[in-house]
Amino acid sequence: MANRQSGRNEIERLDREYTLGTWTRQRDFDPTQIVDTNGPRIVTADGDSILDFSSQYVCTSLGYDAERVSDAVAEQIRTVPYVNPGWATEPRARLSEKLAEITPGPLKKTFYSTSGTEANEAAFKIARAYTGKHKILSRYRSYHGATAASLSASGDPRRVAQGPEIQPEVPGMVKGPDPYAYGSSLDPDESLEYIDEMLKLEGGTVAAVLVEPLVGSNGVLTPPDDYLPRLQEIAHDHGALLICDEVMTGFGRTGEWFASALYDAEPDIITMAKGLTGSYQPLAATTVTEEIAEYFEDTLLNQGHTFAGHPTACAAGVAAIETYEEEGLVENAREMGQYLKSKLDSLAERHPSVGERRGVGLHQGLELTKSTDERVPFEQREDKVSSTTTVLDEVGARALDNGVYFYTSVNTIVVTPPLTITRDEVDEAVDALDDALRLSDAAMD
Ligand code: PLP
Repeated sequence: MANRQSGRNEIERLDREYTLGTWTRQRDFDPTQIVDTNGPRIVTADGDSILDFSSQYVCTSLGYDAERVSDAVAEQIRTVPYVNPGWATEPRARLSEKLAEITPGPLKKTFYSTSGTEANEAAFKIARAYTGKHKILSRYRSYHGATAASLSASGDPRRVAQGPEIQPEVPGMVKGPDPYAYGSSLDPDESLEYIDEMLKLEGGTVAAVLVEPLVGSNGVLTPPDDYLPRLQEIAHDHGALLICDEVMTGFGRTGEWFASALYDAEPDIITMAKGLTGSYQPLAATTVTEEIAEYFEDTLLNQGHTFAGHPTACAAGVAAIETYEEEGLVENAREMGQYLKSKLDSLAERHPSVGERRGVGLHQGLELTKSTDERVPFEQREDKVSSTTTVLDEVGARALDNGVYFYTSVNTIVVTPPLTITRDEVDEAVDALDDALRLSDAAMD
C-alpha cells in the first residue's frame, strides 16, 4: 500500500463521482477498490493484499472463505429468493429456533431487520409497548445506530461527530455514565450508583436501560466482571428492561456466543447484526424473552420492514451459525484472544503512547495517551469531521502501509480480527502495529 494514490482507476473515479460516502466530508471520500478477498485478507485493484484486523467494522467474523454460507445464499436465491414477512420460510424458522438456543437465558422470539440501527429501534418500540413507559436510558460513550432514536441513544459527541449541534435528539432519551475507569472521574461502582440514582429520579418513566456489554467503537470499554448483572438488577428494581446491544459483541467475538453470557447476565432483549451472517448478507435481529413475546399475543407489534426475515439473509444466518459451530470459531476466539491479549500487553509495555489495553477475546483495543504521567488523549482532528485524532490516523495509515488494516476510532486502535485468525496472522498484525506505534510515541509531549 506504500505511497498509494487512490482515485486512479475507472471504478475508483466513478465511485468517487457518483456515490455519497458515509460518515465523511465528501472531499475526504476517496475509497480504494477491493477486487478480491481470501481468508482474512482483502485485495486491492493494485494487487495489494491487506490483512484485515478490523473485520470491516467488526463484521466479517467468518473471514472470506465461508463456503457453506455463500452456497446457502446461492441455493436460497434459486429456490425462494423473496416473499414478504407474512409468509413462512425454512431459513427464517430455522434461524429463529437456533437463536433461541444460542442466546442466554429465556430469550426466545426474534424480530428481524437489516441493520443494527433498526434492531435497536425495534427494541425501543418493544420495550415501550411492553412496559408502558417511554424513556430509554443509555450511556454517553456508546454507539447504537444512525437513525433518529438510535442516534439519540448514542452518546459520545466525538463519535457522533455531527450530533447534537445540528441533529436534535428525539425526546425520551436519557444518558448516564459508563464503566470507564481509565478515562472517567467516576469508578465503575460509582457509575452504577449514578445510574441507580438517575432511575430513581426519572420516577419510573424508564422503559429500558440500553448498553453495549463491552463498548465497541467508543473505545473498547471493558466493564468489571460483575457490572452487567448488577446493572440488570438495578434496571429491574426500577421496573426497566435491560437491552444488550450485541451488534458488535455477538457471535463469539468475546469467546462466548454473546458477551451477556460472558458476564452472566440475562438481558430481556438482545440486538444483533454483523456477525449474525458474518456479513455475507445484511441481517439484524432483536431477540426478546418468552414473557415479552407473550405480551404481544394480544397486543399489536407495531413494527415491520419489507425485508424483515429476508430468506437469503436468513439462509446466510443459519449457515453462518453452523460454520461457527463446526469450525470451533467461538473457542478459537477465546484461545487466539488470549494470545492476542498477551501480544498487545507487551506492545503496551514497550510503547509509552499506549495508555491502556482493554478488551476480551478478539474484541481488543489500545487507547493512546500523549502523556505518560496523565491519561491525556491526543487532540481530536481539528476539522472535526472524524471521530479520530490526527495521530491515530497516522498510526492507522502506517500499519496499512505495513500491510495490516485496523479500525481506528475515538482515541483507540480497535483490534478485532476475524474469528478464524491464526497465531501467525496475529504475529504479522502485531509486528505491523509495533512499527506504527513509533509514530504515536514520537508525537507525545
Ligand atoms: N450498535 C453497535 C454496538 C454498533 O457497533 C453499530 C454499528 O457499528 C450499530 C449498533 C449500528 O449498526 P448498523 O451500522 O448496522 O446500523
